[in-house]
Amino acid sequence: MKDVLKALGNSILKTPLGLLITIKHLFKKPVTLDYPRKKKPMAPRYRGRHYLERYNDGTERCVCCGLCAASCPADAIYMEPEETEHGERRAKVYEINLLRCIFCGFCEEACPEEAIFLGQEYEFSDDNRDSFIWTKEQMLVPHPRKDNPFKKIIRRVRKVYGVTDKNR
Ligand code: SF4
Ligand code: SF4
Repeated sequence: MKDVLKALGNSILKTPLGLLITIKHLFKKPVTLDYPRKKKPMAPRYRGRHYLERYNDGTERCVCCGLCAASCPADAIYMEPEETEHGERRAKVYEINLLRCIFCGFCEEACPEEAIFLGQEYEFSDDNRDSFIWTKEQMLVPHPRKDNPFKKIIRRVRKVYGVTDKNR
């Protein structure tokens, strides 16, 4: 009898009370995000995937000097040089193993040509290990940054303070 009364009490009092709490939360702003439709902006200094820059005339900035590879603590960068038809040096092969990379940004800091930088993108998960070897073609930006008289200063500021460049 005691159990029956308890069950009755639960269904008459506690169940509506529980539903009220649920209804109350229906009108609150959700704390979760509707990912991937909505994405949270990353912190300005966040370091995501790598990009290789071009000069304004479209040529590649990277001269395959190897300083980024030398400064990489994870030994994640591999490159092979070649000579262009104009006798300039560039990378024939430039690869980054993203499974080794710790996204420290040392490669970006070390580059004398400001050829490599880490952007804000983080969506490159995969179930195939080979797809984490990123090639030069995957990292090269299609167009150079928009010309800007303060470009050099902006690039420096970004490098030192991690300010994001809206031109990308
Ligand atoms: S971000 Fe760091 S670990 Fe990754 S490739 Fe550059 S230097 Fe190496
Ligand atoms: S990305 Fe920069 S540091 Fe690395 S090889 Fe190219 S020019 Fe040299």
